[in-house]
Amino acid sequence: MLIKSSDFVFSLILIFCSIAHQDGMAQRCSVADSVGNGKIISTITPFEKRSAYRFQVVFHVMFTNDDENISMIQILSQLEILNKIYDENVSSEDPNIPQEFRKLKASPNIHFCLADKDPNGQITNGVTRTKINDINIACKKFAGNKRYIMHTSLGGLDIWPPDQYINIYAINREQCNALGESVFPWDATMEDDGIIIDYRAIGFIGTAANNKPFHQGKTLVHEMGHYFGLKHLSGDHHNDCLGDDFVSDTPIQSDDYSGCPSNPQSSCGNKAMYMNYMCTVDDPCMLLFTKGQVDRMHSIIQQYRYELANHSCIDVPETSIDELFLIYNQGFYQIKNQDNKPWSGNCELIDTRGHLIWASASKQSISLSIPVFNINLHPGMYFLRISQNNSHKTFKFINFP
Ligand SMILES: [Zn+2]
Repeated sequence: MLIKSSDFVFSLILIFCSIAHQDGMAQRCSVADSVGNGKIISTITPFEKRSAYRFQVVFHVMFTNDDENISMIQILSQLEILNKIYDENVSSEDPNIPQEFRKLKASPNIHFCLADKDPNGQITNGVTRTKINDINIACKKFAGNKRYIMHTSLGGLDIWPPDQYINIYAINREQCNALGESVFPWDATMEDDGIIIDYRAIGFIGTAANNKPFHQGKTLVHEMGHYFGLKHLSGDHHNDCLGDDFVSDTPIQSDDYSGCPSNPQSSCGNKAMYMNYMCTVDDPCMLLFTKGQVDRMHSIIQQYRYELANHSCIDVPETSIDELFLIYNQGFYQIKNQDNKPWSGNCELIDTRGHLIWASASKQSISLSIPVFNINLHPGMYFLRISQNNSHKTFKFINFP
């Protein structure tokens, strides 16, 4: 199988990762079943401005077996989703969002990069890997709400300085009651801060690929919302309508919903915004942050996490599109370069009749994936055109059945 560019011929790299599908565990912050989104063709938007905030993240992969030791490609797929949602140029209204909520959608304007230096100043790829003996530490706590996983002396791994890095732990959370957990900014200490995610809910490749309905990397999108101070829309009052998320443009509701509800849903006399990232529906059904939520995140960052924003990998050089290649992995085509360096560019996928099948843009991201399933990519030959300023590059490839 060959992929050709106008200038070069690249061999298609097939990387096979093992897949773990867990039937029993199906809670995000409490959740259930799924429905696909159908065909979505996004449009290219120009890069408007630099992101308001940039944060460096470190993924701590805590494993007892090879399956839990998730691949770098899978971690990159998570970073791609984070940036796609948190650093999106929202230019047009999403038809999948109910009409009454469409105009409220806003981009947090926050960008995430992988840490390139560890706390000792040594070069890192932004991922640590630690073999552990006791998987039960995934959600174990002791006095003062300290988490075992965040302490080396308790069988976990000490967090990297939380005023410089966002610490994200990937671990088997089969023993826990939810796929993810986050430390609210007002609860954070220098010893306990960060996010813990089940290894099957990281990104959309590898162990996440078959983990439906939590297979699109939205668990971390939700938990990152908590990390920046957002609460569930219900304010965690499920029996009355007295809960508050302290956001003015989200409705009062007593339910955070699960599965993929049909529209409309009513709660506390309002139309419920069940498709908000801070509800607990399935991955394909989470669709928006509101302007009010973005405002709240920004003010919480100013108040609690400003130091962190000052320590980001701000000056990581971007690579040119000449260094990009296309790999096929677990049903996805990923556009990236050898060294996992960020790049920016517009991408268009065109069929042999010249029809635009899909378009997207990378804004200083490391990888960009063609969502083969969402766009229902038929077998056949395609051209992937990448543009960066005035230079272009085209890959020609065959999508086999
Ligand atoms: Zn939650």
